[in-house]
Amino acid sequence: MLAVRILGCSGSYAAAGGACTGYLVQSSGTNVWLDCGPGTLANFHQWSSLAALDAIVLTHAHPDHWLELPIIANALEWYEPRERVPVYSNAHMFGEARQLIGQSISTVFDWHVVNTVDTVSIGDQEWRFDETDHYVPTYATRVDADGSSLVFSSDTGPAFSLQGFVDRAGPIDMALLESTFLDRSEHEDTLHLSAVEAGQMAAAASAGRLVLTHQAPREERPAHVEAASAVYDGPVALAEVGAQYAAAGD
Ligand SMILES: [Zn+2]
Repeated sequence: MLAVRILGCSGSYAAAGGACTGYLVQSSGTNVWLDCGPGTLANFHQWSSLAALDAIVLTHAHPDHWLELPIIANALEWYEPRERVPVYSNAHMFGEARQLIGQSISTVFDWHVVNTVDTVSIGDQEWRFDETDHYVPTYATRVDADGSSLVFSSDTGPAFSLQGFVDRAGPIDMALLESTFLDRSEHEDTLHLSAVEAGQMAAAASAGRLVLTHQAPREERPAHVEAASAVYDGPVALAEVGAQYAAAGD
């Protein structure tokens, strides 16, 4: 069963008791950590272990999506040695990480720079990437495994569409989409999604279910579900730290 466990879902900075962006994407044989925002290692340890980790995928170099990585490097280098952990990202993300982590980066990680034309196999999961509408080079990701599929928008403005993923690999069972703020009118040029835009994006791609994530801490989260549901007919859930969402079904 392909499913995603929420390790952190606060947008931009962490809410009380929360963590920034991070997900554990699990299928029958494979564990992949998708984005490792600050605070996500503690939650990761609740559900998995560094020894059981098959890879890390990073969507972009904004701090709230990856700054746990130097801490993961600490753990791997000094306390929990294992074979190098494969990491997949775009070239910009790799450059930023190399600058911050330094020499250890190649000791503990086996880094692969990927492009949007690539399909990457990680265990029994197939990963695809598409460029979003954001401030730095950013990849949305699609995962197919165990006969189902999920897409994560990462961070994006409304100009991005999931259609490229549908064209390349077929229907999307679950869309995990950012919904940073409720109302576009207060954030006119911001390259994030409002709740309505997340709903519209899921509807346009005929996604089977929608999970809203990346709310800034002061957002009224239930109102996001209401707003997205007004424009999208399928089931809508809010990401909650520790909860697991199956790509298809409950
Ligand atoms: Zn971002």
